[in-house]
Amino acid sequence: MGKGNMEKTDITIIGAGVVGLAVAAELARPGMNVFILEQNARHGEGISSRNSEVIHAGIYYPEGSLKAELCLAGNRMLYESARRRGIPHQKVGKLIVAADPLETGELERLFTQGRKNGAAALEMMGGEHIARMEPNIRARAALYSPETGIISAHDLMNDFLARALENQAHLICRTRVIRIEQENNAWRILTRNDRGEESTFLSGVVINCAGLASDTVANMMGGAYRLYYCKGDYCGISGVKPGLVRRLIYPAPLKNSVGLGVHLTMDLNGRLKLGPDATYIDRVEDYTVAPEKAALFYEHAVKFLPFLKPENVSADMAGIRPKRQGPKDAFADFAIRADAPGFINLVGIESPGLTASPAIARYVKDLLFH
Ligand SMILES: Cc1cc2nc3c(=O)[nH]c(=O)nc-3n(C[C@H](O)[C@H](O)[C@H](O)COP(=O)(O)OP(=O)(O)OC[C@H]3O[C@@H](n4cnc5c(N)ncnc54)[C@H](O)[C@@H]3O)c2cc1C
Repeated sequence: MGKGNMEKTDITIIGAGVVGLAVAAELARPGMNVFILEQNARHGEGISSRNSEVIHAGIYYPEGSLKAELCLAGNRMLYESARRRGIPHQKVGKLIVAADPLETGELERLFTQGRKNGAAALEMMGGEHIARMEPNIRARAALYSPETGIISAHDLMNDFLARALENQAHLICRTRVIRIEQENNAWRILTRNDRGEESTFLSGVVINCAGLASDTVANMMGGAYRLYYCKGDYCGISGVKPGLVRRLIYPAPLKNSVGLGVHLTMDLNGRLKLGPDATYIDRVEDYTVAPEKAALFYEHAVKFLPFLKPENVSADMAGIRPKRQGPKDAFADFAIRADAPGFINLVGIESPGLTASPAIARYVKDLLFH
């Protein structure tokens, strides 16, 4: 695209994270012009590169919400395509553990919620059963979710991108969308590349998958969205015997908590990490993790991981959630809306956005073509 270029494309997707790439994989067809615009030098360097890489089972979200429905559908779609296309993943399962009767009550509430949502094969367990499954953790009761797993987010994104490119989509990096205007029956998009050069073109359809900037992009076309940034810090675990824990271990969530509570996850190489916590921050992409977080996370986690020593835990990485709800607000769902003819905004795609990504893509396709 040169300066002042007047070419017209069929579909423009703004943002090459897991959501934009899933949408591109779903929509691209030979003979259809699909552009994916990304401000960074590469795809997948935003929220999608800073998360837990968990394939969620859809337990926590209110019944009938997009988060519940798209998480459940995405869970099945991800396992199916990961198996078929060789994307590294593992269905490790997850235990949500309770330390006292109050927390056990909370697990029972989650069990009912998960079953209402259709989360498969959930099971409540007592101490003896837990001790057989995970002898090195401490819990009085647990809710077991066998359909929870882990996946390599980067391999998943590479696979979505490969599918889109095979179908003749174009990924254009180092290109930021700075203005959008309606023009006749299309959208005029103004971009600036990292050399400061501007360029403009028309697109019949625009799909805003801009993650942390999805409200800013939506508001360029007259939307009225507002995102809050909620940071999640992680700590790494080192110096413990490999294989001490084989499943993801989450504490029972506290009532009205913003995140899921500091929990234990692992990557596909078996490396253990704790987190993320949840802190609302100003709108800056600050990914530093204070060293003091290590002691704090240790205190939370040693309650259910008694083998931990303070020196096993150290500050690691952080991610930022794009939340539609502020610190005192109730649950807010994903917003996936055709806000104008040929313009779809996806705003507030926080967790379980990675899990839901293939189902989000199908939902967007249905919005466009039905
Ligand atoms: C701490 C944390 C843990 C999480 N854990 C999980 C989990 O275990 N399981 C799960 O299912 N989900 C999880 N999530 C949620 C999941 O990571 C996100 O829902 C998902 O990655 C969002 O993807 P995205 O494509 O919308 O955003 P991004 O990956 O951020 O992609 C958006 C892209 O848009 C680009 N962009 C923005 N503005 C412009 C512009 N003007 N022009 C051009 N490009 C632009 C950005 O550079 C970026 O690359 C977690 C999230 C966080 C923060």
